[in-house]
Amino acid sequence: MTRILDGAVGTELARRGFALAEPSFSAAAIEGAPELLRAIHRDYVDADAELVTAGTTCVHRCWVGERSDLLAHAAVRIARAAVAGRNVKVAGALAMIPAHVAMDERAAQYEETATALADSSVDIVVCESFVEPDELALAARACERFVGQRWGAIVPRADGTPLGGGAIEQVLTLGFDVVAVHCCSLDAATAALERLRSASATAALAAYPALAPADAARFVPTLASLADRFSLAWVGGCCGSTPRTIAELRRAIPR
Ligand SMILES: [Zn+2]
Repeated sequence: MTRILDGAVGTELARRGFALAEPSFSAAAIEGAPELLRAIHRDYVDADAELVTAGTTCVHRCWVGERSDLLAHAAVRIARAAVAGRNVKVAGALAMIPAHVAMDERAAQYEETATALADSSVDIVVCESFVEPDELALAARACERFVGQRWGAIVPRADGTPLGGGAIEQVLTLGFDVVAVHCCSLDAATAALERLRSASATAALAAYPALAPADAARFVPTLASLADRFSLAWVGGCCGSTPRTIAELRRAIPR
């Protein structure tokens, strides 16, 4: 059975008029536009998503400084308010930190954000936007003590290998409950899932590709066929997807 997760939050904020700007990008919406953020989560719930991801992508210290912990908690509270009364899980995004931050500092910040997400009682921590398995391994270690589900999501290129190099099969060895491919083209997602599924017949896999305008017509039918072909545990959308995308996905993959 394939379950449906939500679509993009960052590009959806921009589509609804919120300016994503340095230094804190989408994290600025947590205090600057909490109602908008909650409305986006709520629209995904109304589209029948079974999981929403709190807008914690940019709450690492490298983006928001001392306010990291506080913003992570606030983002999760907004997501919890949006799913109130519904049987919908709340995930926290633990995103890749750019390489210009030193490695020991990145490891410390993954740990700090993972702890904040755990303390805010998310059901799932999704380590996402990672382009290399070695970097994803750092994040995996940071969430080792988290008692809920841990997901690892990697961004593949067209041949299905990680965008930043390495072997995608390595992600299967990092102890994640769900391994996802995301923020990529439909073709890259397909190639990556082929590699992952041939390396493991039983791993729980997920896909939430980006929705490029050129892919608009085939996005939902392709994802539905990938869900079937690879027995995906979860499907959803990344950058460019909207609540409408998720509603269409639900029609293609009924409960
Ligand atoms: Zn994306």
